[in-house]
Amino acid sequence: MSRLIVVSNRVAAPTGGKPQAGGLAVAVHAALKNRPGLWYGWSGRVAENPDQRPQLMERGGVSYAVTDLSSADYQEYYSGFANRVLWPILHYRVDLAEFSRLDLSGYMRVNEWFARQVSDILEPDDVVWVHDYHMMPLARFLRKRGHRNRMGFFLHIPLPPPEILHALPHHADVVGALTDFDLVGFQTPNDRDNFARYLQEAGGVGRMGNSQFDINGRRVQLGAFPVGIDTGTMMKAARRASASRFVRELKGSLGNAAMLVGVDRLDYSKGIAGRLDAYERFLAENPEWRGKVSYVQITPKSRSDIPEYMDMDRQVSEKVGHINGAWGDVSWTPIRYINQSYSRTALATIYRCARVGLVTPLRDGMNLVAKEYVASQDPNDPGVLILSRFAGAVRDLREGALVINPHETEGMAAAIRQALEMPLEERKARYIRMIRVLRSQDINAWAADFLEALEQPPARRSLTN
Ligand code: UDP
Repeated sequence: MSRLIVVSNRVAAPTGGKPQAGGLAVAVHAALKNRPGLWYGWSGRVAENPDQRPQLMERGGVSYAVTDLSSADYQEYYSGFANRVLWPILHYRVDLAEFSRLDLSGYMRVNEWFARQVSDILEPDDVVWVHDYHMMPLARFLRKRGHRNRMGFFLHIPLPPPEILHALPHHADVVGALTDFDLVGFQTPNDRDNFARYLQEAGGVGRMGNSQFDINGRRVQLGAFPVGIDTGTMMKAARRASASRFVRELKGSLGNAAMLVGVDRLDYSKGIAGRLDAYERFLAENPEWRGKVSYVQITPKSRSDIPEYMDMDRQVSEKVGHINGAWGDVSWTPIRYINQSYSRTALATIYRCARVGLVTPLRDGMNLVAKEYVASQDPNDPGVLILSRFAGAVRDLREGALVINPHETEGMAAAIRQALEMPLEERKARYIRMIRVLRSQDINAWAADFLEALEQPPARRSLTN
């Protein structure tokens, strides 16, 4: 069996710093346990003079190769270009992008450096799977070094239409460089179709309903692979935790109040401020619910060194303070706003205690919290998910969620009331429709689907089907 080389900005190897136990880690570990290979990426450390060679290690049956970055690399590639240019533009926020040629050249330099290190490891039969917006030009640099391996790329965040992508200076060297992969995967058909339009405008010729493009003498395949969660594990964790002390304490602190929950990194894409406005409107319009709901908003801070995030931090804190001051009383606090981060198991517990899950991003590639909230529910008394139509997850969950437009405060306020007052039978029916999808399309199915498409290109597949 050929080796699988996974490449991502951060690896989930226990190398110090915070463990990155995200869904990606679960999928990659599962894939790498079943076959030879390794996971390459940034160690998360900044060093004066990073070693030329990656550090190799073995943990729990999986091999890793990690590299440090210099502080200029960190500033330009990561903090600058990836987080202040690509992140906002790919989330449709051209207005927040802070482009500089210095950061772009840092992004290119670091990608070339990653490519050089991967190149040293690569054997001719290896299959390469690259993740996310930090690494868009990686295949181009590997091809320049003469590697002809099968290479796939998966974008975890949205891909906007060409009209927006064209606002990115030198986009052909970044987004356009994706065509050096054999397979480019997106979260939704909408993201995939946006890329197809981008390629058409760049002179590519679409084949097979635009699922393949011939461009610059290469053939690239496009696909939608909505990322899932580790559904079985999440369901089990939530069920087990329901008898824990943590739950008793949480429930005790709620009294008889119904709990609403939001879990989001502090990021402008998540629509936290608009959600707070909707909650305030709900309180204003529904006096009978005052004192009977408690909204828990868990918001670990992220990218705090970036000005746009500092502004948001201030804005959200002010709104929370305003709502608690205006609507609370001595025995009731309308919102508990928490900047600490919780383990996935603790989150499963918190989700299960919540009558309503609030997921209202302005734009989100998928939004795993929405899926985790549903998977954590008690099947006999499930809560209700309120979900933005602009989260990738809406495609999988629209049959069961209350789908809202995060730009409409009144609509969100009405949905909160509808969710709180929804009869048990309807909640169960909605839950069943969603959990079915989450069970069949979990994180392992996602990885298997992507790798099958990468390793069995359509031409070969049509011969065997
Ligand atoms: N998460 C966590 N602890 C926290 C908050 C979030 O482990 O305190 C996890 C959460 O369970 C989810 C992920 O972080 O798996 C967030 O993924 P999502 O797709 O919702 O948003 P992202 O932060 O990737 O934009």
